Amino acid sequence: MDSQNTDNQRVYNRVLDPDSRLKMVTRMGNSVEIDSNIPPRRYYRSGLEMVRMANVYLDEGSLENAFILYMKFMTLFLEKIRTHPDYKCVSTKEKAINSQKLREVLPIAENLKTRLLEQYTKEYDRFLKDMQRREEANLERKRLEEEKGKISARYTSPIPAQQPKASAHKITPVPPLLDNLNYPNDDISSNISGKSSSLEVTHSGPTFSRSTKPASLLSPTLNVQNQLRVVLVPGDLMGTFLKLAHRNTEKNIETCGILSGQLKKDQLVVTHLLVPQQVGTCDSCTTQREEEIFDYQDQNDLITFGWIHTHPTQTAFLSSVDLHTHCSYQRMIPEAVAIVCAPRYSDNSFFCLTPNYGLEYIANCRLTGFHPHNTEPELYKIAEHCKTDPGASVEVVDLRS
Ligand SMILES: [Zn+2]
Ligand SMILES: [Zn+2]
Repeated sequence: MDSQNTDNQRVYNRVLDPDSRLKMVTRMGNSVEIDSNIPPRRYYRSGLEMVRMANVYLDEGSLENAFILYMKFMTLFLEKIRTHPDYKCVSTKEKAINSQKLREVLPIAENLKTRLLEQYTKEYDRFLKDMQRREEANLERKRLEEEKGKISARYTSPIPAQQPKASAHKITPVPPLLDNLNYPNDDISSNISGKSSSLEVTHSGPTFSRSTKPASLLSPTLNVQNQLRVVLVPGDLMGTFLKLAHRNTEKNIETCGILSGQLKKDQLVVTHLLVPQQVGTCDSCTTQREEEIFDYQDQNDLITFGWIHTHPTQTAFLSSVDLHTHCSYQRMIPEAVAIVCAPRYSDNSFFCLTPNYGLEYIANCRLTGFHPHNTEPELYKIAEHCKTDPGASVEVVDLRS
């Protein structure tokens, strides 16, 4: 998938004609893969979050990002999820909620497609005009140089006069580079009535082999390694969490919480710390009654960005069990962060699986409980895309009582 992605990206960065651009973006939206090791329930959860994220991109005018996410959602639930071996186990309630979302998303995606095509056409026209102007200017410059050459040749040596003449007519075409152009979204905000064009969902483009990297559902981009969005953590989060974990910590019992928040201007802003019903031991913590978390998130338009837990007596690191827990977060959203608080060492660390090794390695590890992993190359690292916002404070929702 890697070379495929790079290919897509490369082509996308070169191609300017509107149809090809739209095809490329549609292809990105079709690149969803089902992993039978992830229960369908998690996909349905992420589905809601995908739409939530896409809605924000749409509101903020990031039409391509919105379109890709809506397309991913449709590809996933109109087509791919049916291939999941446990598809039959999905509850009718979950399917009903999902169908409702599909009905909402379809016309939005149709409309976006039209708007994108308009935008691409405008930009392409502008680009062609630009090219023409540049070419004319080039010709004019060459003509003047030639003229000058002729004049100076008349007054100096007659020998070099031929050389510039020969190259004067050889204009090397400038390759159409997207990177050099600006693509403002502002001029397409007008309401365009949705034409009934077919969205290429049911026959998606590239399919990837089983052994490839897991697809990231909650990311509009293909190039996961280089384009992680910033995760903003409120400055008081760790202190607040340690306070509510204190009683457990004193008894040498771990505590965990879910980091939730919203997408804002392409940043993942953690706003809520949700503390679920849980059972902890000295080296583990298991959440219970997850539906309560989900309900709260649905009611408040929240997306899961990761989790936090204490190591009452140990240092801050990710155990093998932690790595597996975190893997299921990071497979859904590439920016997912695991915060470990080690109060005895006054250490709060932000971790993530290494995107180009650890994520895949752990996803393919079938062992459970505490077990050894190869540690070279490194499976996880400090999550550098994660920043604290000293001015922000977290809202705590403690569901334990
Ligand atoms: Zn741990
Ligand atoms: Zn493992």
